Amino acid sequence: MSDITLGIIGGGQLGSLLSVAANKLNINTVIFSDDKNSPAKNFTKNFISGNYDDEKLIKEFLSKVNVITYEFENIPYKILKKLNEIKPVLPKPEINKLIQNRYTEKDFLNKNNIRTTRYSLIKDEDDIKINDGLIPGLLKTCTLGYDGKGQFKIDKKENISSEIDFTKEYILEKFVKLKKEISVIITRFGHQRYEIYEPIENLHEDQILKHSKIPAQISEKIKNQATNWATIIAEELDYVGTLCVEYFIDNKDNLYANEIAPRVHNSGHLTINSHNVSQFENHIRAVCGLEKVETKKIYNARMLNLIGNDIKEYRVKSFKDNEFFFDYQKTEIREKRKMGHFTIIEKEN
Ligand code: AMP
Repeated sequence: MSDITLGIIGGGQLGSLLSVAANKLNINTVIFSDDKNSPAKNFTKNFISGNYDDEKLIKEFLSKVNVITYEFENIPYKILKKLNEIKPVLPKPEINKLIQNRYTEKDFLNKNNIRTTRYSLIKDEDDIKINDGLIPGLLKTCTLGYDGKGQFKIDKKENISSEIDFTKEYILEKFVKLKKEISVIITRFGHQRYEIYEPIENLHEDQILKHSKIPAQISEKIKNQATNWATIIAEELDYVGTLCVEYFIDNKDNLYANEIAPRVHNSGHLTINSHNVSQFENHIRAVCGLEKVETKKIYNARMLNLIGNDIKEYRVKSFKDNEFFFDYQKTEIREKRKMGHFTIIEKEN
């Protein structure tokens, strides 16, 4: 093992896959999760569980690690900032603060001349009525929503669901007629030093990612714009590590940045098998200050997310040598829960 120990906050599948990549590079990991049953405990030798604001656990975590990263963006900024005073947290906590909030995130994108859907901040029902130019639209909580959680479709200003809790802030986003969704994953190591993956084409079902594939069937123009915008985002944020930009393409071939994920991303799972260096390994290399390795595609690939009961069939299946099954080893199968994924590489390439 090397003399670096990496602390990872969050114990889901992303934390698990980060830990596997770190171990391959001879880096120890300590995973800190607020769920004692989180799957990542199966993928690290050092697992700490409890509340993220538990002083004793924070101290223990800090004493064991040299550098800290995280697998999800919803960790309170206050905690990341406090940790960062003692041991470096990468990506920087300020980046997380900006991106945690859909409103500040979209403002950041627009300030950098990156197109997003039209949107407005919504504090109450009247704000929706005033912004009827954004209807049909999607109302999304500014913080803590993912995979379609905390979202409401607004078709008519007279039809506003009574389930909406206006003690929270929202943005109302104009609904885009989607032709396609793509994502771009980039790992930045420092000023103008990065590795970027080609755009990945994604298909969502019920707002949850279902399929990803490379190459994406998109024009050269869209490909260049999407990779260019991802590079601008990573540079402007002075980012260190892997980030993902999720994009929409509409019927008229306009590109919109939907979301920045300041972390490794589900659509990049196929890079484990398609590339010489995966998004996880690149993240570890960047945050631990290891060598940057030129990242190349070896195979085209497709990935299928195994959601809920999908996993059962795969747990007993046999696989060809171009097929790879990953079981996140979650203890309980739940509807809409990401349980594993399955990647097929195209070997003839
Ligand atoms: P999000 O939580 O913003 O990542 O949204 C999850 C998924 O919902 C996206 O990947 C799209 O499939 C769909 N979606 C979100 N926002 C919009 C929008 N403004 N117009 C059309 N579809 C959307």
